[in-house]
Amino acid sequence: MAKGSLVHRVPTGEKAVAFTFDDGPHPVYTEQVLEIFRKVNGKATFCMIGQEIDRFGDIAAKVHAAGHEIANHTYSHPDLTRLTLEEARAEILLGDERIRQVTGKPAFSFRPPYFAVNEVILSLAEEFGYYSIGCVNGEAKDWEQPQPGVDFILEHTRRSVANGSIFLFHDGYGDRAQTIEAVRVLTEELTADGYRLVTVSELMTMTNEQVSHNT
Ligand SMILES: [Zn+2]
Repeated sequence: MAKGSLVHRVPTGEKAVAFTFDDGPHPVYTEQVLEIFRKVNGKATFCMIGQEIDRFGDIAAKVHAAGHEIANHTYSHPDLTRLTLEEARAEILLGDERIRQVTGKPAFSFRPPYFAVNEVILSLAEEFGYYSIGCVNGEAKDWEQPQPGVDFILEHTRRSVANGSIFLFHDGYGDRAQTIEAVRVLTEELTADGYRLVTVSELMTMTNEQVSHNT
């Protein structure tokens, strides 16, 4: 597992998975996610957009206070591969600064908007000390508007469940009602099945593979 590539699944023998929520914080949906995770006593990772932290800093603070993790999803959600290196660096830096304001420390991981990466962007994230995170359930397409249906999201996420899976969902932008319902069902199912719902950084500590700083 290297920092210079997208991590979709953490190699581990532990029965644990990481839920991630992109594009927040959001005044309605983020609160609902917090409630869901409180009920199952799990932790999640919120890949926040810097300018949304500027708008809803109180929600970001609640996420942090509840023991969840905040990951960098840039400041304004551009396709970084279409920017100059300096513009891309500024996007990541501004996102990092907003997270530090909330948590008091730099983010641990980075989720590139649209999963748009190339060697340059992956190296840049590595410069910041980040793991760049992908996901195993991209086929669930919960980001689509209108959303693809609760059953569709459930089915395409269930088939990607395994030790170390990183799941992608969205708590920001647009109508996320189906995501919320699907996540409610999945968190209950997985918990009942003995899975621990942990943050991305916690999941990384469970790896049985040498963590490398080079690609
Ligand atoms: Zn996003």
